[in-house]
Amino acid sequence: MNWEEELKTLIRARYPIIWLTSSEEQRVIQKLSEITTDLEKTFYVWSATKGIQKLTADLEDVDPGAVSIDSSLMAFTELINQEKAVMLMKDIHPFIQEPLTIRMFKDIYFELKNSYSTLILLAPITDIPIDLQKYVTVIDIPLPEKEELRKILEVMVKDVNEALNLNIELNGNTDTILNAGLGLTLDEFENVLAKSIVAKRNLDPSTIITEKEQIIKKTGILEYYHSMESMEDIGGLENLKSWLMRRKKAFSREAREFGLRPPKGILMVGAPGTGKSLTAKATAKLFGMPLLKLDMSKVFGSLVGESEKNMAEALKIAESIAPCILFVDEIEKAFAGISSSGETDSGVTARVIGQLLTWMQERQKPVFVVATCNDPFKLPPEMTRAGRFDDIFHVDLPSRSEREEIFRIHLNKIGRDPGNFDISEFARLTEGYSGAEIEQIITEALYRAFDEGLELDNQHIIEEIQGYMPLSKKRKDEIERIRKWAEIYCKPASIRDSESGSKARRIEL
Ligand code: ATP
Repeated sequence: MNWEEELKTLIRARYPIIWLTSSEEQRVIQKLSEITTDLEKTFYVWSATKGIQKLTADLEDVDPGAVSIDSSLMAFTELINQEKAVMLMKDIHPFIQEPLTIRMFKDIYFELKNSYSTLILLAPITDIPIDLQKYVTVIDIPLPEKEELRKILEVMVKDVNEALNLNIELNGNTDTILNAGLGLTLDEFENVLAKSIVAKRNLDPSTIITEKEQIIKKTGILEYYHSMESMEDIGGLENLKSWLMRRKKAFSREAREFGLRPPKGILMVGAPGTGKSLTAKATAKLFGMPLLKLDMSKVFGSLVGESEKNMAEALKIAESIAPCILFVDEIEKAFAGISSSGETDSGVTARVIGQLLTWMQERQKPVFVVATCNDPFKLPPEMTRAGRFDDIFHVDLPSRSEREEIFRIHLNKIGRDPGNFDISEFARLTEGYSGAEIEQIITEALYRAFDEGLELDNQHIIEEIQGYMPLSKKRKDEIERIRKWAEIYCKPASIRDSESGSKARRIEL
């Protein structure tokens, strides 16, 4: 059942109070106006600035005196004695926390129960005081799906062609434009279409995609990536790569028909610079899906309710763009304040994390979460509990053969033939170096060769290696601790070779 049908069913079933979570006021009003017309009920809208207004062709003031919540609820109680009505209360969340207001909502609940009327509360977040939770039914409204966007698109093309005497034709572009619109609110989609028409006098999918990326970026929490990296750019990590390649197939229609559920995601744990972010980006390319990067540190805002709203919005966008990859880099950073959050931020951190964890457990849409973590000791146990991720991988420092591969990849990237270099010697000398450090060594060696006016050779690279202090030397104990933790909780991302000390093993995939 979609949200519109659910809402109509609840109103018909005489649910007294319904909470709608959405930031799209106009879309909700439009839908409620259709439902109330259909069910022959009067539709009222309340806001803190205008009080109660009756929605007919226009908005009519009902009782200009009834602006405060208390007087408005009293006025509505009178109205429902005379007629079947639905009243929508906008931006309700900041007003509903006072004990007296909570009591008034409980009172009206019982009045409504014996009536044919419904009270609908609208807010961008679900923030119902505990005392009211039993009295309120929640519908979390998703962002518009393709069919809703299609209506807007068709109306817009028709109107613009008539009004501006244009001849915009959708030809074969409809699907691309609608896909580009996923993740936007109806208003945003309309604006993006209008912008494309003004700028190009046409509907240009690439303008729409660029605009959509800007809009998503403006949320401040999500970033939309076009992944250029592929699996061939990753040296080593063979177990992880073959796991991902298998999972790619699980997103197909055939897999669904076969009974497979779309994979949920992975957590990669390991030292910095070992290719975790690189793998996340390459996964997007492998799966052929867009990648949304969620910046946990930006989720937390200073206003009351802002953090929860940010997180809800980010998850909603991810669901509406699905299938997609949600990349949560350094997920442990979000947990930084959690132990003390009860005192320092009134539990906001804990609530936001709870939101993410619940969503990870219950999400219905194919959003594949790729999370990375440098320090697993900062993760709460809930994070690693079964059901959140399909698997947890330990991405260790590269083995000798992996380092050889990484040297080859990065030499190729700078347009050099790895066959001209002593790769085996480089790998021997770089035990304990991460992929990022190997990349840096090559870059530095290239600078030096250029400075000296010479072609890059073995000696440049060897000298860079010898002058470099890898992080693993400075943080030896920490890396060992993570290895011990990983032995219990993780699958190895790599097939280890003899140098690493671990047994050569290929995990069951
Ligand atoms: P951090 O936790 O610091 O973000 P990370 O594990 O996510 O580290 P990346 O950001 O993926 O590491 O690595 C940085 C860069 O190092 C990559 O963009 C890539 O160029 C290089 N690199 C790291 N590991 C590998 C690898 N296995 N193969 C090829 N390149 C690698």
